[in-house]
Amino acid sequence: MKYIGAHVSAAGGVENAPERAHEIGATAFALFTKNQLRWEGPPLTRENIEGFKKNCEKYGYSMDQVMPHDSYLINLGHPDRNKLQKSRNAFLDEMQRCEQLGIRLLNFHPGSHLNKISVEGCLKRNAESINWTLDRTEGVTAVIETTAGQGTNTGFCFEHLAAIIEEVEDQSRVGVCIDTCHAYAAGYDLSTEEGFRRTFEKFEETVGLEYLKGIHLNDSKKELGSRVDRHDNIGEGKIGLGGFKMIMQDQRLSDIPMILETPNTERWPEEIEMLRTFARP
Ligand SMILES: [Zn+2]
Ligand SMILES: [Zn+2]
Repeated sequence: MKYIGAHVSAAGGVENAPERAHEIGATAFALFTKNQLRWEGPPLTRENIEGFKKNCEKYGYSMDQVMPHDSYLINLGHPDRNKLQKSRNAFLDEMQRCEQLGIRLLNFHPGSHLNKISVEGCLKRNAESINWTLDRTEGVTAVIETTAGQGTNTGFCFEHLAAIIEEVEDQSRVGVCIDTCHAYAAGYDLSTEEGFRRTFEKFEETVGLEYLKGIHLNDSKKELGSRVDRHDNIGEGKIGLGGFKMIMQDQRLSDIPMILETPNTERWPEEIEMLRTFARP
């Protein structure tokens, strides 16, 4: 089964997200469980929590179809110990929000080394941050997103993800989300049959498909290997419709949330419908 949706707004409360997803015909959705540009947010109220659960049930979303995104401020590989702890505390808060809502996946970007520590050192800190958080939570999987490799971001090659996972103590609660725009910008071709085959072959041998917990569906405005993160609407960028057809046709990529983060949100209903057509046998 292909669960296809988008990153919907949680304005007015997380309990509003399922209805917004339903309105655009989504069978999966992402959301922020707090303001993504702030370190702290008000705790979830009973009304938020019960409303969210009730509305997921009402609109038919199981917890296999929901994958929130964490705050952009968090850097789980931060070179500075105090700032690292600040990020860990914020990430723990986000994991606990997921626990409260019954959500089982939380998607985040691996940290940046900021040219102050080595890439290896940064990856190690990411793994330690995951271990620290998993020790304090239950039932939520930390899902590492592939990055485009802008600036000093880690996580743009599959080896980085594998290095983090290797150091995680409870590997049943760590996973990966492939963002198609980021992967393409990082040099993994998804636009041709040959490129697609090699990308997933490489993923399988480096990370393992059993770790794939979600996909972000975005076309890329920038060239293959540009390391620049600019999302485009499906079929309008360098990946093109062919790449998304291959994803939708690939039976290995099933039963996980597939989330649009494309810039023209008005096109989401149409994009979801088109992707659903691609998924038909
Ligand atoms: Zn992301
Ligand atoms: Zn993404």
